[in-house]
Amino acid sequence: MALEIPSHVIVFPFPVQGHVNSMLKLSELLCLSGIHVTFLNSDHNHCLFSTSDIRSYLLYRYPDLFNFATISDGLSDDHPRSGNRIKDLFKAIEITLIPLFKDMLISGRLNLKFGCFPTCIIIDGTMCSAINVGKDMGIPVIVFRTISASCFWAFFNIPNLIESNEIPLKDNCDMDKYVESVPGMEKILRLRDLPGFCRAADSSDFGLQMMMNQTQLTINAHGLILNTAEELEEEALTQIRRLIPNVYTIGPLHALLNYRLPLTTRPSTSLWEEDRSCMAWLDSQHPRSVIYVSFGSIAVMKSEDIVEILHGLENSGRPFLWVFRPNSVHGVWPVRELGSIGVKKQGYMVEWAPQEEVLAHPSVGGFLTHSGWNSTLESLVSGVPMICWPYFGDQQVNSRFVGEVWKTGLDMKDLCDRKVVEKMVNELLGVKKDMFLESTKVMAKLVNKSLVMGGTSSNHLDRLINDIKVIVNKFN
Ligand code: UDP
Repeated sequence: MALEIPSHVIVFPFPVQGHVNSMLKLSELLCLSGIHVTFLNSDHNHCLFSTSDIRSYLLYRYPDLFNFATISDGLSDDHPRSGNRIKDLFKAIEITLIPLFKDMLISGRLNLKFGCFPTCIIIDGTMCSAINVGKDMGIPVIVFRTISASCFWAFFNIPNLIESNEIPLKDNCDMDKYVESVPGMEKILRLRDLPGFCRAADSSDFGLQMMMNQTQLTINAHGLILNTAEELEEEALTQIRRLIPNVYTIGPLHALLNYRLPLTTRPSTSLWEEDRSCMAWLDSQHPRSVIYVSFGSIAVMKSEDIVEILHGLENSGRPFLWVFRPNSVHGVWPVRELGSIGVKKQGYMVEWAPQEEVLAHPSVGGFLTHSGWNSTLESLVSGVPMICWPYFGDQQVNSRFVGEVWKTGLDMKDLCDRKVVEKMVNELLGVKKDMFLESTKVMAKLVNKSLVMGGTSSNHLDRLINDIKVIVNKFN
């Protein structure tokens, strides 16, 4: 009788908050289907996790199915891993992470807990150089890209954009001109909506080249997982499938996990301690009255922009809850403004919030966001309209979809002025409130429909699980 080989997947995220969040959710969904998961966390992030219950929760709930392994991210502990310095992390992938990962696979260190070889690797789409590592060892690799399908598609077309001279952007070019070299996006994306990396002055720019190369490598993988729903990005998905036929759209993952495993309280996957005092503050506010402000885990803002946003919020007269990460400002902290603007009276500030819960709170009426993909999905699922002020990477594309395609908010891209902030906040929570609430309700319904049994994301997840189980038999 043949010995049954268990399915054992290595899940290896790019080591920053947003990527870790969605890949942990996927890992738990795989465990729920009886698949063994080794989650390869960076030493740095694993240490930060010690302040949350997520480590013990996963190990306790799935004692025979879930395991954490750790790997160095190649940076010193005091490296900020944010803002422009995030590039150091991208550089460390090639120099440190991928070679270390290969050593770990060869040495069998990743087989220890389950006593079996990995049968599949799910690698973050920014680390596609690892596809060859898997191939050399005969282990199929599936790529998980944590950005939107539309942004992935824009990244995929960087060679076309360069060839047609649309990027690098020329001085004084018309940023509102529609982009021609991203098929299917001709009537959606303007030059200003291209991913932040496309604003590089030179096509040999490290960030641009890195995104282009890693994205192109995706075609060598066994398949591509995207944290999106078919209904959100039909056009981009149609285009992608022409080149990468095996695409699993299984998002929004946080909501799919909540649907498949409803819990009254779920341990947070936050790398930093959440300040829950903001929940009591939200309880004291009127329904749909608060604007929640957060720029995610990586953005580092100029202090003059913070001052403009603060004044805009104050002048709107509306209560706000602002996540102010300690390392999120370049230069001098606008301490004077923070004090004088009556933050205490009108606003509430925390260093890190339980964001999913905040967005689900009935007092929250709008979200001033940097348009990170996780934040965008979390807002869509909760039916909260957005004001988008994208910082970098995929965020320029996401904010365009919010403002122009889904019509679930306003795109404040490239503008940071107190008058604009005040006007947009008042439109979102005042004059256009009903219109935005209606469109966000429609989108939330559409997205949530994809999660139920028979829904598109649910079906794609089942297909992924099935394929991972079949891979074991095919390759052993
Ligand atoms: N987040 C959080 N608390 C905060 C701010 C953000 O838990 O105070 C979470 C948020 O829910 C999201 C993630 O951090 O899941 C940020 O990911 P996103 O893709 O939006 O942006 P990034 O941080 O990658 O720029």
